[in-house]
Amino acid sequence: MTNPTRYFVRDLDPNNDLERGLPCVVRHPDAGGRCERTATVKMYGILNFCPDHAQEAKVGALLEAYQDAAHFFDRFRNPHVPDLNPIVEGELAAVVDRMRGEGPSDAEHERALLRAYPNPPEGVREIIARWAEDERANRGPTPLDLLLDSLNTLCKLMRIAFEDGEDWLVEILEDQRQETAARAAFASEIAGLRPAG
Ligand SMILES: [Zn+2]
Repeated sequence: MTNPTRYFVRDLDPNNDLERGLPCVVRHPDAGGRCERTATVKMYGILNFCPDHAQEAKVGALLEAYQDAAHFFDRFRNPHVPDLNPIVEGELAAVVDRMRGEGPSDAEHERALLRAYPNPPEGVREIIARWAEDERANRGPTPLDLLLDSLNTLCKLMRIAFEDGEDWLVEILEDQRQETAARAAFASEIAGLRPAG
């Protein structure tokens, strides 16, 4: 399978003086502050990432792109659309299933999040733990679900901003993406510690 995100993700060239030894872009306080590792991957034409931070950003971007593609095709299959030719209906169902199956899984994204953001600061731990307690009491969605939804929306906005050539917006969104990703990583950690059910 070709990687559909290749147009906004590429490896940095270690033989190019301008691309060697660049710092990783991750620096949000909630993500543990400035990442000291060297960047190996460029995303959205302007953001340089170390391997672990790149892997999380790539999986998140890929997940969003596949979900967006599945939604696109799924729009033709709803009660407000006149009955489809059964052949078209069958082909649409197949392509929606394929989009959902080919993209990364949520579990894959959570593993990448935990690897990229393993040590959240104390303040983040407290905020997420308290939030999880409140949502359990209210029987609402978990902080992990809400943060993953936000992360997905941020990835969508970054894809669109990049496609529109709005580099300044990509940079602003990346700051928010780092905060949300680091918080989601800790939310995933505490969700994993809790008994299922
Ligand atoms: Zn990094």
